[in-house]
Parts: sequence; C-alpha cells; structure tokens
Amino acid sequence: LLQVRGLRKTYRDRVVLDDVDLDVSAGDVVCLIGASGSGKSTLLRCLNLLEQVDDGTIHLEGAEITDPHVDARAVKARIGTVFQAYNLFPHLSVIDNVTLAPRRVHGIAKKDAEAQARDLLARFGLADKADAHPDQLSGGQQQRVALVRALATRPTLLLLDEITAALDPQLVGDVLRAVRELAAQGTTMVLATHEMDFAREVATKVCFLEAGRVLEQGPPSQIFTAPREDRTREFLARVL
Ligand code: ATP
Ligand code: MG
Repeated sequence: LLQVRGLRKTYRDRVVLDDVDLDVSAGDVVCLIGASGSGKSTLLRCLNLLEQVDDGTIHLEGAEITDPHVDARAVKARIGTVFQAYNLFPHLSVIDNVTLAPRRVHGIAKKDAEAQARDLLARFGLADKADAHPDQLSGGQQQRVALVRALATRPTLLLLDEITAALDPQLVGDVLRAVRELAAQGTTMVLATHEMDFAREVATKVCFLEAGRVLEQGPPSQIFTAPREDRTREFLARVL
C-alpha cells in the first residue's frame, strides 16, 4: 500500500530524517517508536505531504506522491490524520466537524454524510454528542471525534501522531480502545506512540527511529523481546 524509499528531510542544515525506508501493507498497523526528537512526527508529516521531502520517494497504492506534479489535494483526501491536539473546529458542532470534509472535499450529499457520521459516532460511543460543540466534550471525547472525522472520508491510510499524549490518564483507555477496534477491522495505520504496551499489542510492525534513521523494524514480538540493536534495547530499557 505504501512504500517509502531513501527518504531524507532537512530543516536548514539539520538532517531530521535520513535514508528512511518503510513498507506498509494493507491492514498493517505500523507503530513508530523512538525518543523525543527522533523524527516520528516529521515522518508522518512527510507521508501526508505536510512537509516537502529533500530526497527519496513515497508511493501510495503504486503512485508516487512525492512527484512534484502530483495533485496533493487528492492525495491528502485519501489519508486521514489525527494529531496530538485535537484540532477540531471550535465553532462547529461535532456532526459538522465530521461531515465537513466528506461534503466539501468528496462531494457527498449532506443527508448521506450525516447518516454516515452518526453511524461512526455511535460506534465510538459518541451517539449523544452529535450536536455538542467541542468545548462541551472531554479531551478523550474530542479525540474520538477527531478519529471519527478522519475516518469519515474512508481514508486509504490513517496516520495517528501520539493521539493520547495530551489526555488525562483515565481518558487514554477510551481512545486506545477505539484505535484497537480500528486495527481489528483491518484499517491500515501508521502511528507514533510512546505507549509501548499498546504498540506491543496492536502493531503488526514496530519501527524504531533514532536521530532520523530507522535503526530497526520488525514484528513487536521481535522488537520488544529480542531487539537486534543495542540502541533499541537501551531505549526500551528506559521506557518500559
Ligand atoms: P516527539 O516524541 O517529542 O514528538 P518526534 O520523534 O516526533 O518527537 P519530530 O517532531 O519529528 O520528533 O522532530 C525531529 C527533529 O526535527 C527534532 O530535532 C526537531 O527539533 C526538528 N524539527 C521538527 N520540526 C521542525 C521545524 N519545523 N523546523 C526545524 N526543526 C524542526
Ligand atoms: Mg512527535
């Protein structure tokens, strides 16, 4: 589904991503782990074309999306993204937040978009929140709305950047449960997380970044129990 080859990203003369290769198959849940500043968010931002890459290629469903002539808007419409801060539109109700992109970007009729949105909200335990405004919701509820909003356009690929990091501990579980359900349904995801237990449980592949390089990647059973690299072992010893 997604192939990243030789990806390089610099800010001024600082190399932030260096020769990154990554393969994501349909149904994969790829967890990016690594210390703060290792490049996880930057990699996600390159994948959804929020950042221009300096070198390397990204192919999505066989087409090169790093091609400068690509229709970036069309590519972004196929990728759902949720960041750490919920980024809901504060002046719009939950249902309007969720139906905005399906209606505006994908041209779906209001009635159909709302019916689909209500189904999704119900699946994530938000059936009674459709008409609320974001500031009337808890952080965990807002983040689940952000997930629903990302899913409403039926993305090919879902990118999640530490979506539980800004939440109170007692709200984290709800959001992780929602992600777990998506994973069980075969949603293809790449997510950056500091929740190692969660990564171990939900990932099909774990990718350890250090200083902008993918030091090692493999199934969670291997990375968490028998890492090949000393640096991976040191990182895990610090965070587990
Ligand atoms: P965290 O776990 O704290 O979220 P991360 O792995 O997501 O960290 P990134 O946010 O990708 O790390 O940052 C990687 C490096 O790139 C950091 O050294 C950061 O300072 C640098 N960086 C990120 N964004 C910019 C920017 N817009 N301009 C300059 N440097 C940046
Ligand atoms: Mg980050």
